[in-house]
Amino acid sequence: MLPDLEQELQELRSRDLYRAPLEIESAQGPRVVINGKECVLFCSNNYFGLANHPALKDRARAALDTFGCGTAASRLISGNMSIHEELESRLARFLGTESALSYPTGYMANLGVVPTLVGPGDIIFSDRLNHRSIIDACRLSRAKTVVYNHCDTDHLAERLSVETDYRRRMIVTDGLFSMDGDLAPVPELVKLSRDHHTILMIDDAHGTGVLGPRGRGIHEHFGIAEGIDVLMTAGSKALGTFGGFIAGARALIDLLINRSPSFIYTTALAPDTCAATIAALDLIEADPTFREKLRANVETVTGELTGLGFDIMNSRSQIIPVLVGDAGRTMDISRRLFDKGIFLSGIRPPTVPQGESRLRLTLMSNHSEEDISRLLEAMSDVRDTWV
Ligand code: PMP
Repeated sequence: MLPDLEQELQELRSRDLYRAPLEIESAQGPRVVINGKECVLFCSNNYFGLANHPALKDRARAALDTFGCGTAASRLISGNMSIHEELESRLARFLGTESALSYPTGYMANLGVVPTLVGPGDIIFSDRLNHRSIIDACRLSRAKTVVYNHCDTDHLAERLSVETDYRRRMIVTDGLFSMDGDLAPVPELVKLSRDHHTILMIDDAHGTGVLGPRGRGIHEHFGIAEGIDVLMTAGSKALGTFGGFIAGARALIDLLINRSPSFIYTTALAPDTCAATIAALDLIEADPTFREKLRANVETVTGELTGLGFDIMNSRSQIIPVLVGDAGRTMDISRRLFDKGIFLSGIRPPTVPQGESRLRLTLMSNHSEEDISRLLEAMSDVRDTWV
């Protein structure tokens, strides 16, 4: 018999923390249909609008015809198809690493890699605002985990100097922070990792495609060719598809293939997803205008919101948190925006710390001038509530 779940749900409601997904009745794009009403979407990770791009859909359809819908087994049994191998070499070439490996999701990639590299008797240094999948990966590893203050390399250096008596040590951080839109201090992390002989892992799920002159990601943004040992990314953001990836040295990938449970004990990624992801990489590589348009939208919106007096924290990217504080008020503002045709969901604890509820505004390269004007007008209308 189930325990009293209603009571638990009621407790969430009373703290303004109850969640329920909205139903999207259209394809993902700058505008979506919800309850029969078209609204402008400002909270997806589809930064380049590729989730519904014709080139990706064509490649996915062709892969469906060639390979079918399912892979029918894990990679190490009989699910490994040539489209997986093609995707992984294509991604490694794009990122500039020796090898890459796919997982069904980004979450599973993080759960797979951390416990494979570190375990009991080892230690992880983890940024305070790391994504939940990294936090869970650290827990799963059973290594000791030290949480350092967000992007605080002095605090990290101090912890690294004290916590020395371990078999392996690992620093792990988001590259572009998913709820804050700021960047990890990667050059300093590379130096610390070298000086203190640790493994360095960067989760660049939100940076791939977007950051760097050619969209290679955070390492290209900072001009770093070496020193990141484990580069994680996901198909589910700028690439518009699905899947999680670990990129790095061939030996790392071979070890993951042999040891990583969330690679070994799960069915291989669907063929159409692999093909669409290859198409996304081809497009992003060939066409710099995705990044240019996104950057132009980011500059307009951050400038205007700051001018209106909103606190956008330390955002340096297409992820623009607009701080509200109180969870209930955040959801009220989100509802008022929705009434004005703007879909911008509120983010509450435990996704963000207590008292830091916010609207997590994300921009797309194909938001039109009119979309942006509608956003700014609506934000200006609801501004009295919290500025
Ligand atoms: N890492 C970060 C930083 C993320 O933001 C996310 C998802 N939002 C993930 C990993 C997990 O990726 P996926 O959604 O593909 O599981």
